[in-house]
Amino acid sequence: MKEFTVKISPLTPIWTGDSDRKNTVLRETGIIGSLRWWYEALVRGLGGSACDPTSDNRCPDKNGNHCDVCELFGCTGWAKKFRLEVQFNTAIPELWIGTREKRENKYLKRNVAGFMSDGTIILKFVPLREITPNEWALLNKTLQIIANYGALGARTSQGNGVIEIVENNLPHRDETPERSELKGSGNKAGLANLNDFFFYKFYIKFGEDIINLIDKRLFWTHQPDHCGFTDDWENWKKLWSNYRFLPIAFHIRDAVRHLEDNKNKRHEIFGESKKGSRVFVSHGYKLDDKMVEIRIWGYNVGESIKNKIKKELENKLKEKLFSKKEYQQYLEECILKDEKCGRQLLEGSE
Ligand SMILES: [Zn+2]
Repeated sequence: MKEFTVKISPLTPIWTGDSDRKNTVLRETGIIGSLRWWYEALVRGLGGSACDPTSDNRCPDKNGNHCDVCELFGCTGWAKKFRLEVQFNTAIPELWIGTREKRENKYLKRNVAGFMSDGTIILKFVPLREITPNEWALLNKTLQIIANYGALGARTSQGNGVIEIVENNLPHRDETPERSELKGSGNKAGLANLNDFFFYKFYIKFGEDIINLIDKRLFWTHQPDHCGFTDDWENWKKLWSNYRFLPIAFHIRDAVRHLEDNKNKRHEIFGESKKGSRVFVSHGYKLDDKMVEIRIWGYNVGESIKNKIKKELENKLKEKLFSKKEYQQYLEECILKDEKCGRQLLEGSE
């Protein structure tokens, strides 16, 4: 049978681990789960039906019908139409960033980890049943949105999963998904809908080569009274020199979080209760020796926080990126380079 492959190159590490935080094997399930999540958002945006496969609101519904997403990804009583195989991976050296605030009287640590690659990672789509042209078109569109504006895999609210598509030989890749072919049956869940998304890309330019800033240990990594925390500047260097990214997603997240003054709202948007975050940020991936690009995107967050991100990110980042105030001068510029709303992506005006 013909092989359908997409070659990708990770710009920030891909995380596929389960909730036990182990990430030792690149698991297809983590990639499939993420593909499905974006596919759901796209299908909802186009007016189709998408259930919540993680809740009781999953398909089949009481009449035995399933939604437009389960049609491709499968559910109880309806087999999925393809299998995904992922080839090749390299785990990056791990490093840790402490929390800025104490939780239950102590600081916690958050790790930067995941898979990158010396070459490309190959996603192989193996059809098990006939996939319709429209489903291929939807799948292609999903991959495009992920590569151009979002991220793939898990922990995408903490920097992981920015990818570039190096080669795509899936069929129907130049076709626009047809709304009219979505059936709209089965269960529906009011979750992420592409219509409600925003996507930003910023350039962050430093006044000196980033490798020098790492050498001088200027970046913030933990609070001075965080007992037992040890820095790993060698791994900072490796991530930048070998893997071309600067592990600053937690810094960016901290900066963006504090743009929302209302504590309840903050918890709701950034997922500090049981719910997941509705704001996602990337690490800084390399543009040149002094400059990185970052992504910030999300959905259902309201206009006020979106505007604040645009207007106040630079100042907040100055506070959060460095360990001392006198280092703030090293952040030269933080420029909004690209801004899209989900509706534009749905209309194809990218
Ligand atoms: Zn479903």
